[in-house]
Amino acid sequence: MKTNAALTQLAAEAAGCERCPLYKDATQTVFGEGPASASIMMVGEQPGDQEDRTGHPFVGPAGQILDRALGEAGLARETIYVTNVLKHFKHEMRGKRRLHKRPNQDEIKKCRWWLDKEIAIVQLKLIVALGVTAAQALTGRKLTLTRERGKTLDLWDGQQGMLTVHPSSILRMPDESARHEAFAGLVADLARVSEIAG
Ligand code: SF4
Repeated sequence: MKTNAALTQLAAEAAGCERCPLYKDATQTVFGEGPASASIMMVGEQPGDQEDRTGHPFVGPAGQILDRALGEAGLARETIYVTNVLKHFKHEMRGKRRLHKRPNQDEIKKCRWWLDKEIAIVQLKLIVALGVTAAQALTGRKLTLTRERGKTLDLWDGQQGMLTVHPSSILRMPDESARHEAFAGLVADLARVSEIAG
């Protein structure tokens, strides 16, 4: 059933997920969003603080960078399915702030169950992994960003993938010229995505 209704139903099922402990400290699931007719899926690692509060993927600062990069690459976000490997925000408290915490292999494996179902519904030509955690979850092997970014990757079932940076890595860069360069690299990778599947 390749329909938007199937995605809505899946998101409703995931809202009650207790497959791993991460649901306990998060506000809500943040399921993927976008049309079932999307030819491109973008997969990040997990929702962040603002995504957890709003229930929508890539709406915080990293999402704003992604939107700007998509625009510069000639891709419209509303035509793309955007999701994460994990549907709950894993974090630790530092004072009053909730800081991102890297997921472990067991959490990734358990939540892949939902990602596999999203992939089965959306009519994809290309899956773009935003960062190595997503790429490793999608390929089941260790990848390095420097060696594999921008190249097409063979995923299971004949799916085609590509690795690029997670937009949050650009935000963490210490100086403005490094951020500019990294942003230009993301736009170049997304322009290639547009050539392949746009
Ligand atoms: S992170 Fe994924 S597997 Fe774990 S409880 Fe949330 S939705 Fe379920």
